Amino acid sequence: MPGLFGMYGSDGIGERSAAIGAAADAQRAASQARDAEQRVKALEESLAKTLLICESLLEILRERSGLTEDDLYQKLREIDLRDGVLDEKNQTKPTECPSCQRRLSNRHARCLYCGHTFEKSTFAL
Ligand SMILES: [Zn+2]
Repeated sequence: MPGLFGMYGSDGIGERSAAIGAAADAQRAASQARDAEQRVKALEESLAKTLLICESLLEILRERSGLTEDDLYQKLREIDLRDGVLDEKNQTKPTECPSCQRRLSNRHARCLYCGHTFEKSTFAL
């Protein structure tokens, strides 16, 4: 006598469950991809706005102070080197807490272990 699930064959239920699971995984992945795409688009818009502000500020400075492109590049290089690496960024790497000496990311305003408050640049990511 065939069992309750006999109509699906010996492993039909397992195949059907796997297909349902795969479809759910695909749906979740598609949703995550859409979310990531929206976040990238928002970042691109934010970056374009930031560049526009920088360009406007630079033009105002040039017009009012005589600032040159060379002045800008010298300052960019100087600030870039503040983190010790000429890499077109001024972002410090994960560091060590001066209070408890544990290694942490510089993303946190306070040490996760001892609560020490870090002084952070306004321009840090
Ligand atoms: Zn600490």
